[in-house]
Amino acid sequence: MGKKIILALGGNALGESLAEQMAAVQTSSNAIADLIEQGHEIVITHGNGPQVGMIEVAFEAASKTSVHSPILPMSVCVALSQGYIGYDLQNALREVLLSRGIDKPVATLITQVVVDANDPAFADPSKPIGSFFTKEEADAMIAKGAHMKEDAGRGYRQVVASPKPIDVVEKETVLALLQAGQIAITVGGGGIPVIRQGNHLKGASAVVDKDFASAKLGELIDADLLIILTAVEKVAINFGKPNQQWLDRLSVDQARDYAAQGHFAKGSMLPKVEAALSFAASRPGRQALITKLTTAKDGIEGKTGTVIG
Ligand code: ADP
Ligand code: MG
Repeated sequence: MGKKIILALGGNALGESLAEQMAAVQTSSNAIADLIEQGHEIVITHGNGPQVGMIEVAFEAASKTSVHSPILPMSVCVALSQGYIGYDLQNALREVLLSRGIDKPVATLITQVVVDANDPAFADPSKPIGSFFTKEEADAMIAKGAHMKEDAGRGYRQVVASPKPIDVVEKETVLALLQAGQIAITVGGGGIPVIRQGNHLKGASAVVDKDFASAKLGELIDADLLIILTAVEKVAINFGKPNQQWLDRLSVDQARDYAAQGHFAKGSMLPKVEAALSFAASRPGRQALITKLTTAKDGIEGKTGTVIG
């Protein structure tokens, strides 16, 4: 039986540079095509950390030398990143599907996610974007007004506000494409964050976590399974310690307990586990799977990965 699946691609499914992304989308598309061939209905979502960082830095740099170059609002940077990533991904997937004799249209939706203007996240920027910097580089950027934080022992990154997604503006379109047997690439980079002002949608200076946005979209279109693809095959407790233990299956309550005990790093694994458990808890029968791109197929069959719910 085919499942209705939200497939959330992590950073390593897309790479960190133009050349890496070109290569990564090929590998990712082959893995996605495997799932489509198995009869699953797939909606693709993805992160945009390196790409939105690249876009933001490029426009900031250009604004220093050209009066015609604006500093772009974060919402516009996210919109550009959706277009750029979607362009590479939809073409790579289209090609792989055609080469397997599957005639399924693939399209990228510029997708907006509604956030609350009063979300406390706006007062505490915490979402890492862009590349890693040394302590000295980070101090120089802080002096210019950027918010910088140390990211899980890997160096310093710029951080922006990360409010919770409330609604996906284009959800009916995603559903219409799904019902027509088409593949949508949507809520890229967590979606363009917008605040409702009557009929007007105002872009917000924020980046919505792509795992939370994917979980929210999954609820809205009534998906069965949320798959969060990342750099590890399974989630661990005591991660990186001598008593590290990989987890096969977790109830929502167990996942909540482990999260509260601090087993999952903030800014990397914690939002994935939180998104997974909120999706799994949203309706009986819903599950989330956290694993790697290359083990997604086995994960759906219950052979590997960490299943929550
Ligand atoms: P993505 O680009 O897919 O969002 P991240 O690097 O943000 O990936 O998050 C995945 C990373 O989280 C893993 O590669 C791993 O290094 C780290 N991590 C932190 N805590 C854990 C944990 N408890 N179990 C597994 N991985 C963890
Ligand atoms: Mg991440």
